[in-house]
Amino acid sequence: MSAAPEQAFPLPDTTGIGAHYWNALREGRLDYQCCSRCHSAWLPARTECPKCLAAEWTWKIASGKATLISWVIYHHAYHPWFAKKLPYNVSVVQLAEGPRLISNVVAAGTTLRIDMPLQLIIEREADVALARFKPA
Ligand SMILES: [Zn+2]
Repeated sequence: MSAAPEQAFPLPDTTGIGAHYWNALREGRLDYQCCSRCHSAWLPARTECPKCLAAEWTWKIASGKATLISWVIYHHAYHPWFAKKLPYNVSVVQLAEGPRLISNVVAAGTTLRIDMPLQLIIEREADVALARFKPA
C-alpha cells in the first residue's frame, strides 16, 4: 500500500543534467562538476560553468569532507512527509573541494556551529539516496 500523494516523499528531479548526481549517490558517492577551463567546481548540476560559462567539464568524486556554513532549524513541516522529523535542520554545507549544497546535518543532541567539520553520509529516504552530513 502506497502513501497518499500528499503524504509521499517529495521526489527530486533525477532526470536530465542531474541524473549523474543522483545515480552516483545511489552507487555510494557524491559527485560534483569541475570546469575543464577554469577548474571551478560546483553543485547542483548545470550545463555550463557558473564562473566562466564553459560547457566543458567533468564529474569528480567528492572526498566527503565538508564544513558547516549556515543552517536553520525547521519547527514547522512545509510538506507532510517531514512532520515526523521535526525539529530538523536545513544546512548549507561546503565540500572540501569547494561546491556548496543544501543538506541536513544528522547530529541529534549536538550543538551545531559555523565551520564545524563534517563527513558525508548517504541516507535513503523513500528509496532516494540523499547526501547528508554528520559531525566529523
Ligand atoms: Zn569555468
